[in-house]
Amino acid sequence: MKAVVMSGIGQIGVEEVREPTIQAPTDAIVRVTTTAICGTDLHLIRGTFPGMKPGTILGHEAIGIVEEVGSDVRNLAPGDRVVVPSTIGCGACSYCRAGYYSQCDVANPNGPQAGTAFFGGPEATGPFDGLQAEYARIPFAHTGPVKLPEGMSDDDAILLSDVFPTSWFAARLAEVGSGDTVAVFGAGIVGQLAMASALLQGAGRVLAIDNLPTRLELARMQGAEPINFDEEDPIETIRRLTNGIGVDRVIDAVGVDANRPHSGPAAEQSGGGDGDGLRQQVAPETNPSGGNWEPGDAPDQVLDWAVEAVAKAGTIGVVGVYPPTMSAFPVGKAMNKNVTIKAGNCNHRRYLPKLIDIVASGRMSLAPNVTQDETFDTILDAYRAFDRRQPGWIKVAVVVGEGSGMQVSGRATVDATT
Ligand SMILES: [Zn+2]
Repeated sequence: MKAVVMSGIGQIGVEEVREPTIQAPTDAIVRVTTTAICGTDLHLIRGTFPGMKPGTILGHEAIGIVEEVGSDVRNLAPGDRVVVPSTIGCGACSYCRAGYYSQCDVANPNGPQAGTAFFGGPEATGPFDGLQAEYARIPFAHTGPVKLPEGMSDDDAILLSDVFPTSWFAARLAEVGSGDTVAVFGAGIVGQLAMASALLQGAGRVLAIDNLPTRLELARMQGAEPINFDEEDPIETIRRLTNGIGVDRVIDAVGVDANRPHSGPAAEQSGGGDGDGLRQQVAPETNPSGGNWEPGDAPDQVLDWAVEAVAKAGTIGVVGVYPPTMSAFPVGKAMNKNVTIKAGNCNHRRYLPKLIDIVASGRMSLAPNVTQDETFDTILDAYRAFDRRQPGWIKVAVVVGEGSGMQVSGRATVDATT
């Protein structure tokens, strides 16, 4: 089968690999029908989220059809159409039972202290082969995948795999409640859906902070108040718009390296890359230090802004991705404002049934966020375009074709802020 394989920093390619097989009674094999590219994939490829084992299949977003189930998967059957959550939980440990699927004690083979297990991640997260493939082995399939209602479009469904749950979780982490004023840093797709989630969870006002006009316009269209940090000091503006108080809640939907210099690794296409590489544009305004960045040396700009923007006794929710090696945070400033900080990897499975209902009932339409319809054959080009933060590229869905893998068609879905 075909899959997107990472062979080293900056090196990805579409390769022919062996099809996965059932390895445990709780496994299922899913034929992927749509996958997507996520900003997290870019972190992994660049090495800003380090530790990828060469040969790992990338990707942690998919919908597909169950092909085969192990003997202890009793709630799914071949032919079921499912969404696969990005994080993996066993469903039986005390953490999973309490809804903390991303802190499962069992799913990560590196042990209970190893952290979140997810598809297509670094060695420390499993490693588990990812979902940018024609077929995927889904561990603990009695718990993870959720059946999709008939009639839900692929473009709606693919955003339930990671993006919408993460966005919803972001607003939960930030403790958004009735009437709150919420600042969302990062208006990529997670930021956009975090704004929508905040509004669904009762927010009175939402401020959107980014520097890409197309993203800010999307934010405005859904009722948020855009702030372009290239054109104005975002903290000054936030304070002015809130009578000097600041916002009740902040959501960090940016994470590491959106404002960091990095070495600009090249993406290599199998059969010869064109060399333009997965290189991120670094805005000089947000890159005061310059030079090469070592993880952990200083807080990211967005974390500093978050602590500045939040009102006294407010809450910051962090879903932007940071590597375990990142250790700097403006704790003094936060402590002296009585700020609550909550952070984490989404417990996807916890929210999926509710979010499927919200989408199926028409209260939220996710499909318009899928702006690129690519084929699996063009996924590497989609990676490059996404990496360049090309205007108008919100999310790239990759439709994976049926059958031999020689006639793969697709869309790629990409986001630079998670
Ligand atoms: Zn568990």
